[in-house]
Amino acid sequence: MQPPVLEVVGVRKRYGRTIALDGVSLAVGAGEMFGLLGPNGAGKTTLISILCALTDTDAGEVRLFGRPFRRSDREARRLIGIGTQDLSIYPDLSARENLRFFGKLYGLRGGELEKRVDELLSSVGLSDRAGDRAGTFSGGMKRRLNLAAAVVHRPKLLFLDEPTTGVDPQSRNHIFEQVKALNTAGVTVVYTSHYMEEVQKLCRRIAILEGGKVLACDTLPVLLKLLDATVRVAVAGAPPGFADQLAAIPGVKSIKPAADGFQLVVDDAAPVLAKVAMTCAATGTELTAVSTREPTLERVFLHLTGRELRD
Ligand code: ADP
Repeated sequence: MQPPVLEVVGVRKRYGRTIALDGVSLAVGAGEMFGLLGPNGAGKTTLISILCALTDTDAGEVRLFGRPFRRSDREARRLIGIGTQDLSIYPDLSARENLRFFGKLYGLRGGELEKRVDELLSSVGLSDRAGDRAGTFSGGMKRRLNLAAAVVHRPKLLFLDEPTTGVDPQSRNHIFEQVKALNTAGVTVVYTSHYMEEVQKLCRRIAILEGGKVLACDTLPVLLKLLDATVRVAVAGAPPGFADQLAAIPGVKSIKPAADGFQLVVDDAAPVLAKVAMTCAATGTELTAVSTREPTLERVFLHLTGRELRD
């Protein structure tokens, strides 16, 4: 990981009796696309609000760009962009007026502002609707405009809280492409979602949040390694001792009888399958059926929490 631009250490937050964040620690490196995955109520929005200095913590520390983050730190605040879950755009203003408004907030003026607004309208595919009131837009178009508004000042670190809520598939792809392009251009992105597919598709490192706690935080391949894969083979005409031969295959952790054959618990299904086939050939055993079950992020989540990620 690159040196962290964001460090969260032991952050706690309570709303009355509800513990929204229960000692959250994580770090995000410069240039990363980092996913914060968790079901509704996990604490994602609370964490993002704290990271953007919109909400105070009860305990713990947030460090941005290597120094403690304070609400009063205007310099640090200029370096961050926030795509809030509740749209920030004004329905009575046109797309262009919205972006002008946000640009002015960040001190852009005159030709520089107009150039930036044009550039953003084009990048989110709204140039031809620039003069129309945002209130008349579809959910997806509003989200795209909201994203443009979040980056008008060219932030170095961008927080996106459920940026695809209420979005049609076309706008969703548009938003993905836009977020990827921003990241490729060097913007560090923290992306929250309760959609596994989104986080899996976009993010290199993922923190799984539940009940205000980080249950796991790593790259997808490492998270998937938390679970074993299983291989089922059905065989005919296996000689005595065949099960022992399967059990001796490197990467096989355990073996038990299953319908017409065996079920193997393995680290990685593909190399074991190749060896199973070789063992069958060498012993004159007919391999009649094969199936594998690989870990998925959904199953990792279930394993960690005992419940499904989906609502
Ligand atoms: P997520 O974004 O993952 O859905 P949130 O951060 O919105 O989760 O919520 C975490 C918990 O804190 C939930 O139990 C939620 O009901 C509670 N919560 C969030 N904001 C408030 C608030 N302003 N007042 C009271 N409870 C809140």
